[in-house]
Amino acid sequence: MLPDLNGHFGIFGGKFVSETLMPALTELEEVYSKAKKDPAFKEEFEYYLKKYVGRPTSLYFAERLTKHLKGAKIYLKREDLCHTGAHKINNTVGQIILTKRMGKQRVIAETGAGQHGVATATVAAMFGIQCEIYMGTEDMARQALNVFRMKLLGAKVTPVDSGSKTLKDAISEAMRDWTTNVHTTHYVLGSVLGAHPYPMLIRDFQSVIGKEAREQIIEAEGRLPDYLVACVGGGSNAIGLFHPFIADNAVKMIGVEAGGLGIKTGKHAARFADGSTGIFQGTKTYVLQDKDGQVKVTHSVSAGLDYSAVGPEHSYYKEADRISYTYATDKEALSAFSLLSETEGIIPALESAHAVAHVIKLAPTLPKNKVIIMNLSGRGDKDVQHVAQLIGSSKQ
Ligand SMILES: *Cc1c(COP(=O)(O)O)cnc(C)c1O
Repeated sequence: MLPDLNGHFGIFGGKFVSETLMPALTELEEVYSKAKKDPAFKEEFEYYLKKYVGRPTSLYFAERLTKHLKGAKIYLKREDLCHTGAHKINNTVGQIILTKRMGKQRVIAETGAGQHGVATATVAAMFGIQCEIYMGTEDMARQALNVFRMKLLGAKVTPVDSGSKTLKDAISEAMRDWTTNVHTTHYVLGSVLGAHPYPMLIRDFQSVIGKEAREQIIEAEGRLPDYLVACVGGGSNAIGLFHPFIADNAVKMIGVEAGGLGIKTGKHAARFADGSTGIFQGTKTYVLQDKDGQVKVTHSVSAGLDYSAVGPEHSYYKEADRISYTYATDKEALSAFSLLSETEGIIPALESAHAVAHVIKLAPTLPKNKVIIMNLSGRGDKDVQHVAQLIGSSKQ
């Protein structure tokens, strides 16, 4: 079972943090390892997933999209139906229960587009825990509505004006806060990134997606799927779907990164297409960096995929050839966004639209008896205004 006791997935992962943070990571590891064996934790986690988040989410047969693409049967795992509109809340519910168990009264988090900030502020409000969210000023300007949403939920939103004023700078600032306030504060990380035990515990919390999908597809088709497809930002929704199928060698898995304006332009976030091994923000993994090891600025039409590193477990499975990775460009994601809206009446998040874009390429190459499950990681309400600016004028 991966990772090993030090948080290594083969040569990837680990704990690359300052000494001051080591006790906090150790505390989190201990609390989590106790919780994992405690039926009361499992019961509480499942209670909130069911009553508050609205799980299980449905596995929906996309009949019109399937007919349109004339190939494999396409099922959508509907994480867009979760409370707050995406899979992120599966993780924040788990971490807020751990926060309570550690006796901490305050949580902090970083956010790029604001989705993880909203998911954290939501569960903090539900548990009556103080909440502060770090966000780059560039992102705050682009995502004004989510900033207001977090404030409505009672969180303090702290602007970060350093570096590129985006997600990676917000993470650095949140780490600084954590170093200072480690006795009272838990850092709720948003994806399968950072130092051990985060990539492991967030994967475990998100694995509810794959566990449900496995039961649901057996009920619907009487067998396991042939393909799993999911978009990969940090990689939490993808590993959440994939992990419960990892031992099933016949199930192929494809992660879809942000191809932005194309790999050659350098304006993308396709770590596996154009990155190399490095150490960044607590972990060893694939990173987009220049030849001097300077981390590159990324680009994607979807803020949730716009990050220079990827979860270490993905790097491991990429090199082990168990999961394959591809990318979809901004343009492909936008046309997938429209196609899913028009054929199924489901407006996907722009992140999820990258997975749709790959399904559009894959399904027609497969016979009609093959089965694809695609993770619809979130709903597109948050993106409608942005898309209107990009394609709106061409819609009659
Ligand atoms: C944040 C986000 C993502 C990307 O994060 P992962 O950790 O890669 O899942 C994907 N989809 C949606 C809807 C998101 O909000």
